[in-house]
Amino acid sequence: MSTDDYIVVVNAGSSSLKFSVYRKADTGSWTLDAHGQVEGIGTTPSFSATNGAGEPIGDDALDRGTDARAALDVVVDWLRDRYHHANVCGVGHRVVHGGAHYSAPTIVSPEVLQNLRALIPLAPLHQPYNLSAIEAVAERLPRVPQVICFDTSFHRGQPLVAQLIPLPREIRDAGVQRYGFHGLSYEYIAWALPTIAPDIAGGRVIAAHLGNGTSLCALKSGKSVDCTLGFTALDGLCMGTRPGALDPGVVLYLFQGIGLSVTEVETLLYKRAGLLGISGISNDMRTLLASSEPAAQLAIDYFVYRAAKEIGAMSAALGGLDGLVFTAGIGENAPEIRKRICAASAWLGIELDEDANAQNAPRISSLTSAVSAWVIPTNEELMIARHTGALLGLGSA
Ligand code: ADP
Repeated sequence: MSTDDYIVVVNAGSSSLKFSVYRKADTGSWTLDAHGQVEGIGTTPSFSATNGAGEPIGDDALDRGTDARAALDVVVDWLRDRYHHANVCGVGHRVVHGGAHYSAPTIVSPEVLQNLRALIPLAPLHQPYNLSAIEAVAERLPRVPQVICFDTSFHRGQPLVAQLIPLPREIRDAGVQRYGFHGLSYEYIAWALPTIAPDIAGGRVIAAHLGNGTSLCALKSGKSVDCTLGFTALDGLCMGTRPGALDPGVVLYLFQGIGLSVTEVETLLYKRAGLLGISGISNDMRTLLASSEPAAQLAIDYFVYRAAKEIGAMSAALGGLDGLVFTAGIGENAPEIRKRICAASAWLGIELDEDANAQNAPRISSLTSAVSAWVIPTNEELMIARHTGALLGLGSA
């Protein structure tokens, strides 16, 4: 192993711990050297890793008792083994919520961690896991600097009206505003557009991040001007287990009419709604597409309907549309869903090239389409590696 510079990127969730290792190439850019994960934390944990070419280089079933901290030990041991001669110069983390204050990546300090702990109520299912991974890395690799990249930062330049939640001043002053999420994914798309789709990079683009979590971002000249996710990651489009936008009166009724507890409502909104709630079958789009059950079809119908409706709203926010970009698990791999969303958005001037769409080709609209449509695989980890390198003085972001 050479003494090249390496950066480790960590994405810690409630049931998985994903990591990527980037090596600084002679050109100064960051190249993926390894990627791995511990999945199934709390149920049936397992470790797997691949090299930069995607070939398997590690695979292990783990003890059932492996919790989030033990998962990190597994990853750190594996990294120590494989990279013992390497110069790991930084660890970059994905953190879901940076609040109104953090509009850019930041170096970890006790004060930063304290500020971010205060945001846990705004992202209860993500923020605690993100932060405990940072603390756990600090204990195990005390001399390695850590950088945090936020899913909210990219949206901080939005116009005031896009960030506003129309409630009285004292509530807004307590932090109730639209923050937007999936920012690292959208930042990657904005960064990649000038190379992949230069004709629209400076124009009005909607990026559709359709994964387990789903959202749209309205990009004007590569800057976020609106996002369908708002105060929390519950708003906007229908998601795997979250409902997307719903009448706030429903939440009142869940408390006052049905008598659910706070915890029950939280579980309902974060884990039992969306595609899973409608279908009663699965939150996984592959399962729903393969099912002939009417409830599965209804879930897909709603997913498409909601996405197309919000594409209309985001087009209004942009004052028109030049391009539509699909990304993330569903956006990158489900031609059927893209086809249906594009068909429902034909009124905007989107005309699909069916063959290109079937092949997940970068450009999936016909040459005569007034608005072009694209598939661009997202790469949040690369953005984190670039930011981490830049903040630690190892290259530009
Ligand atoms: P996360 O938000 O957890 O990062 P992903 O971006 O990996 O999620 O997206 C997960 C979603 O992508 C799941 O609904 C999954 O069914 C869907 N997906 C992945 N591959 C395909 C495919 N080939 N066809 C349809 N859906 C797919």
